[in-house]
Amino acid sequence: MNLLLLHTESDGGLAKSSLEALSATIALGGPFAVGIVGESTQAAADAIATCGAARFLTVTGPDYGQARYATDAAAAEALARSAGAEIITAPATSRWNRVLPGVAHRLGGKADTHITGLTISEGKPAATRWFYRQRMEAVFTRTSRPWLLALEGGIAPAWSGAAGTAATEAVTPAASPRTQVTGFAAPSSDQQTIRPDADLLFVTGAGWTKKQPDGEVKTAEAETIILDFLRITRSSLGSTKSLVDLGGEGVAVLPFLSHMNQVGQTGSTPRHPKGLSTCCHGEEPHTVGWRFIGERRAISLDANCGWSRGKADVLYVADAFAVMRKVNELLA
Ligand SMILES: Cc1cc2nc3c(=O)[nH]c(=O)nc-3n(C[C@H](O)[C@H](O)[C@H](O)COP(=O)(O)OP(=O)(O)OC[C@H]3O[C@@H](n4cnc5c(N)ncnc54)[C@H](O)[C@@H]3O)c2cc1C
Repeated sequence: MNLLLLHTESDGGLAKSSLEALSATIALGGPFAVGIVGESTQAAADAIATCGAARFLTVTGPDYGQARYATDAAAAEALARSAGAEIITAPATSRWNRVLPGVAHRLGGKADTHITGLTISEGKPAATRWFYRQRMEAVFTRTSRPWLLALEGGIAPAWSGAAGTAATEAVTPAASPRTQVTGFAAPSSDQQTIRPDADLLFVTGAGWTKKQPDGEVKTAEAETIILDFLRITRSSLGSTKSLVDLGGEGVAVLPFLSHMNQVGQTGSTPRHPKGLSTCCHGEEPHTVGWRFIGERRAISLDANCGWSRGKADVLYVADAFAVMRKVNELLA
């Protein structure tokens, strides 16, 4: 029996990444159970009642509505033991990423994180992940059981099927929470520039802060143009390493950028249908982070930049200040 671990969101529902992990677990074949952890779990179980799971196991209660190591780990362990699970999948949320290795240890199994593919090869499950700063991709398998796998977002389509009434079985873990979660501190939605579900990834490069052809540095204008575009389009904001490093060196650059925005070999590999790169040279260590972007466009002053060498579908050799000013005008 395989087991898919899920936790509910604050509204009691399931996140898109949970539904994607469900599709990936179904594609693995064989009987599987779904284990749901949350303050209330019936609505989430009902939403996926027709997914084909053999059992719906739940750990329910106020203690399980919040991210806390002690309760999340105890819940996952109890669900795994109850299902007698051999392969345990979970969406790579911060909650599951934090506890899966510890749970594997308690169960005498093994855990792997950042899984980007899951298939059956020669009758055995085979997982895909990147190694060595995303330079090498490996497909591997393990003989240890249980084998716990944290699945990255976007690796399977989100499950969509009819809701129903799930026959849930309650599981009671032995958890004693000593840590009290007192609340959440989150930036306001306008400050929050990383939006994994956005249709467009908008990437800014160091060119925005460089001396422009008229001899001026126009950082303040760059900030206005970029923030206006993000506000109007709700795109996700990415950056090159050069630009985020400038902030770290104490140069007054774009204050809303951090290393969290960095896309590339040492940055992230986001998944969006489209990407638009601006004021960026399109060098290999940066563009490796673009490999899951569907349609790629770039605006650079340099006709010989990396984008022109097969890295982009469309390159506009143009001044990004002028182009984006006009784009914002048209969108507004
Ligand atoms: C091991 C290693 C790992 C790395 N990992 C990463 C990584 O994860 N992510 C990453 O980004 N980089 C990474 N790098 C660095 C990478 O090689 C590049 O140095 C970096 O991406 C360059 O950033 P940039 O294109 O913003 O800056 P620059 O190379 O300075 O390019 C700026 C560009 O802006 C253009 N420009 C200027 N003004 C305008 C204008 N008005 N309109 C349009 N275009 C304009 C210029 O023509 C130029 O092409 C890594 C390097 C190494 C060695």
